Order: sequence, then C-alpha cells, then structure tokens
Amino acid sequence: MSQKYLVVIADSPFENNSREQAILGKIGAHVQRFNCSNESDVIEAAKEADVVICDVSPMTRNVISNLRRVVGIVESGVGYDNIDVDAATERGIMVCNVPNFITCEVTDHAVALVLALTRKLDQIIPSTRAGEWAWRKFRPIQGLDGKTAGIIGFGNIGRQVAKRLRAFEMEVIAYDPYVSAQAIERLGGKPATLEQLLASSDVVTIHVPLTKETRHLIGKSELALMKNSAILVNTARGSVIDQEALVDSLRKGQIRAAGLDVLATEPPDPNDPILRLDNVIVTPHIGWYSEESSSRLQEYTALEAERILTGQAPRHLVNPQTMSKRKN
Ligand code: NAD
Repeated sequence: MSQKYLVVIADSPFENNSREQAILGKIGAHVQRFNCSNESDVIEAAKEADVVICDVSPMTRNVISNLRRVVGIVESGVGYDNIDVDAATERGIMVCNVPNFITCEVTDHAVALVLALTRKLDQIIPSTRAGEWAWRKFRPIQGLDGKTAGIIGFGNIGRQVAKRLRAFEMEVIAYDPYVSAQAIERLGGKPATLEQLLASSDVVTIHVPLTKETRHLIGKSELALMKNSAILVNTARGSVIDQEALVDSLRKGQIRAAGLDVLATEPPDPNDPILRLDNVIVTPHIGWYSEESSSRLQEYTALEAERILTGQAPRHLVNPQTMSKRKN
C-alpha cells in the first residue's frame, strides 16, 4: 500500500515502533520515530506529519504553529502537561491522551513507596547487605493500620490507591474539588479540604494532573501543616510540589520522609540535593511501566492515531471542541 499518512513519534520510551507500524501500516501510514528533546527537534521531525505521537516532547505553541499538516497529537500516557492544548485547539488539532492503561502500575508503585518508606526498606536492605542483623537500629517504625491516608486527586489512580490502602486498614480521606463527596464515600473515604487532609494524614499521596492550578500545590505553607511523622508520596508530576520547599522541610524534619517517582526536572541534575537526602526514595519516573502496560500503551496510542486519521471519533479527546472543526 502506498504511503497515505505520516505519523511521527517525536519521542518514546519504547525500544522500537514495530507495534505502531503494524497497526498504522494497515491504513497506509508510515511511522517515523525520533528522539526529540527540544522545540526545534520536534519542528524538524514533525513538519510534514499528519499525526504526532509524543511522550515528553515539548508540544508548545511555537512547535504547533510550525506543523503544517498535523490533525492530531496523541500523548502516549496520561499526563499531557507538555502539550499546549489551547494552541492546538485554536488550530483545530485534536489532542488525545491514553488514560486507564497504566493505572494499576502507577497505583502499585505509589503503594510500594508508601510501604517501603513506612517499613524503612531503603535503610534496612543496605544494612543486611552489609552483613548487619540489627533491627533495633531502625526504630521507630509505625504501623499503617488505623492511620490516615490522604489522597490528593481522586481520579483513576487516586481511587485505586484508596482501595489498596483501605485493605491495609487505613482510614482514607481525599481532596478533589472536581469529585463529589458521594464518589469518595462510595470507596469508603471521607472528603476533606486540602488543609484538613495535610494536617491529619500520616501518609499523603498525590494523584493530580499538572495544571496552572496544581503547579506548586504543595509548597512551604502546605508542608508546614503536615505532621512531623508523615510521609509524602508523589507519582503525579514533580512540579506539583515546590521541590526546594520540600528539601528544606525534609532537612528540618518537618515531615519524616518522601517517596518521589517524579521530579521538577527530569532527569535531575546529579547534584540535585533531593537525590542525597537519606529520608527520600527517588525512582526514575517508572511508575507507569510494566511489560504488560508497555504493550497496551503502544497499541492503544496507535489505535487512537488510526481513529484520528480515518475520521473515527477518538476515544480520549482532551479538546472535544475540535470535533466540529475536524478537517478529515
Ligand atoms: P485522572 O484524570 O483520572 O485523575 C486526576 C484527578 O485529579 C481528577 O479526579 C481531578 O478531578 C483531580 N484534580 C484536578 N485538579 C485538581 C486540584 N487542583 N486539586 C485536587 N484534585 C484535582 O488521572 P490519573 O490517571 O489518576 O493520573 C493522575 C496523574 O498521574 C496524571 O495526570 C499524570 O500526571 C500522573 N501519572 C504519572 C505516571 C508515572 O509514571 N509516574 C503515570 C501515569 C500518570
């Protein structure tokens, strides 16, 4: 089949694009994969593309204004804070993301961070590896049962985390101004304000998208509300927390520990102080990943691109206003 469409993968965590090519080849699309890291890379790679698939590439207003043919941008993941959705909408470009397909993985990762920090595994494992047998050294460890878990952002991942932590006999409270009290109560949680949640939780776990509203949602004054014994887990986006304020708070012992799968800058500067604190576990934005979720993500992303190119309705359109201005 001759090439009808060009689909450009601006950047991707996957080793090859054979899955995408297998799906999109059937409709006459050629898939080209790049490793763009800045705006000019994306413009150069995608200037003739009909659809752009991206992971963290900067799909800014400048980039979008330089893409002549593009009718759709598919974010190969949940968070699309790298895409200027307003700029895309103004040009009638559909923006889609891939929610739901990695929820279990991120949930497991958030809960793993909660457990690792609570049980001090990050300190205990190096100790036994070094030949020590010294449980007393790790006192005090507090149990989770009967303690309070505060969930910020009660969407797909937040709800699954709530379910898992309820199974550990924790009380769950949640802050999400866009979700009804009934939805929180249905999963055995209690709605709370952000201030109530921070002041009363033993574990705080963040599951909001990065938006203008949530950038630095947790800053110096919010950290000051937390218990000295509390742990903070973030698997959402690094910039939801004011990282400088967090380092300060962890150094002063204002909170006990933090588990972070995401940082303000990724990859971080190797001298970033957050990497050196012994009450922090940092993982390299790996929450989404398992072999199973990788396959699902690649397949679903390609199918969404196919739907855009063949005039079908995309399943997860972030800017539905573009449907009426659709060009294909
Ligand atoms: P979701 O859209 O299902 O849920 C997000 C929830 O946040 C929604 O219920 C929304 O109402 C709420 N929210 C929005 N603004 C808020 C605010 N100002 N205060 C409180 N709540 C607010 O998304 P999800 O699937 O649960 O994913 C959450 C985030 O996790 C994503 O946006 C993404 O950035 C991040 N994520 C990270 C990884 C990883 O690998 N670490 C993987 C997937 C997703």
